[in-house]
Amino acid sequence: MSDFVIDCPPRVALPVVGTDAKFPVRRVYCIGRNYAAHAIEMGHDPNREPPFFFQKNADNLDPSGVFPYPPMSSDVHHEVELAVMLGAGGRNISTETALSKVYGYAIALDMTRRDLQGAQKKLGRPWEIGKAFESAAPVGPVHPATEVGHRQAGRITLHVNGTLRQDGNLAQMIWKLPEQIAYLSEYYELSAGDVILSGTPSGVAAVARGDSMVMAIEGLGSLEVAVE
Ligand code: MN
Repeated sequence: MSDFVIDCPPRVALPVVGTDAKFPVRRVYCIGRNYAAHAIEMGHDPNREPPFFFQKNADNLDPSGVFPYPPMSSDVHHEVELAVMLGAGGRNISTETALSKVYGYAIALDMTRRDLQGAQKKLGRPWEIGKAFESAAPVGPVHPATEVGHRQAGRITLHVNGTLRQDGNLAQMIWKLPEQIAYLSEYYELSAGDVILSGTPSGVAAVARGDSMVMAIEGLGSLEVAVE
């Protein structure tokens, strides 16, 4: 007899470069407005205000290379981001020890139903309907930090159909990776399996069915995702 009254949903797990073993996902945290030029393009003050986070669902991470255009929106934007995969967690992690909690890094997209997010913002309502939907976070394979080091600087780009749309550098983050981990750990108990999407540089814009998005982060190669 089963321990469960219904079939268990599949465990979300991501491919890892160099091994057949996978990275199991627990939570997904996303930081907002973490590159000054993107804060300005969204109409906000780029000064160093306290960081803020929202969440996506673990099963929104999609390594398939296909982004199915979501329903109920006609303004779906790309946001290329460095994803940070934690191999350990804790509470009140110091900035000095934060990077020791990182298992690895991947290229990811924070796909956004911008029209729905904008309507929620105006009403002071939560953003989930704009941010946390099926396949809302296309993601590439995880690169272990033991192989690629810690990615705190390096070019991050996104092309759509061969045209450069986003072009930044990880060094432009307002809140650096150790600060993001330390800050989150004051509010939550972080754990192995947690994923942090670390914000997007400027140049966010809409995609359409049939588009090809190609993302690259220095040291992590590139990732192609087709909009279907
Ligand atoms: Mn984002």
